[in-house]
Amino acid sequence: MTSDSKIFVGLRPTRKKPDPHRGPKGPKCQWDGCDEEGTHRAPVGADAEGLYLLFCPRHVSEYSKGYNFVTKLSDPLTARYQREAASGSRPTWGTRIDQASEIPLPSSVRSGTAKAINSRKNTAQSQAARAAFQLRKLKVLEAKAFERLGLSPDATPDEIKSRYKQLLKMHHPDANDGDRKSEDSLRATIDAHKILKLNGFC
Ligand SMILES: [Zn+2]
Repeated sequence: MTSDSKIFVGLRPTRKKPDPHRGPKGPKCQWDGCDEEGTHRAPVGADAEGLYLLFCPRHVSEYSKGYNFVTKLSDPLTARYQREAASGSRPTWGTRIDQASEIPLPSSVRSGTAKAINSRKNTAQSQAARAAFQLRKLKVLEAKAFERLGLSPDATPDEIKSRYKQLLKMHHPDANDGDRKSEDSLRATIDAHKILKLNGFC
């Protein structure tokens, strides 16, 4: 039984059980007999799109040297990695890219925080939109007020004041024999002036 196990172990030289002493560190380098952290991703090959091997910085360059990116042909060493990865004889070799990061990314770890940030962002956005809308509405009212007083929007406070006085006299009922229309014009003039005054134009 013991000899059988030895043969079996000999066929599968590396143990894939994660070492608990490695703690939160990432997966190991997938180079034979290397215990470094597999921090670098290398493509398995052209016929295994999306499959990656993980290597330490030293071995990723070794691996890359053996891999011809132009012809997408690899040397015997690389071919071995590809074959083994494809056959699944080493299940941890060749990791699907979408499953490659077993270490949770900071963004996915605290989804609550991300949610909170998003909701804060959304609130800020809607507040900004509301403020912009109020501003636009105000601009329209101001523009109408200037128009009503027969002034251009860049009129000075003095110009607004003198124009206002002029219009008050012009539309005053006493000056128009109690004409209903002039009464409306007077009210419109007062309203327009009020808007400009409230918004600091005069
Ligand atoms: Zn290595």
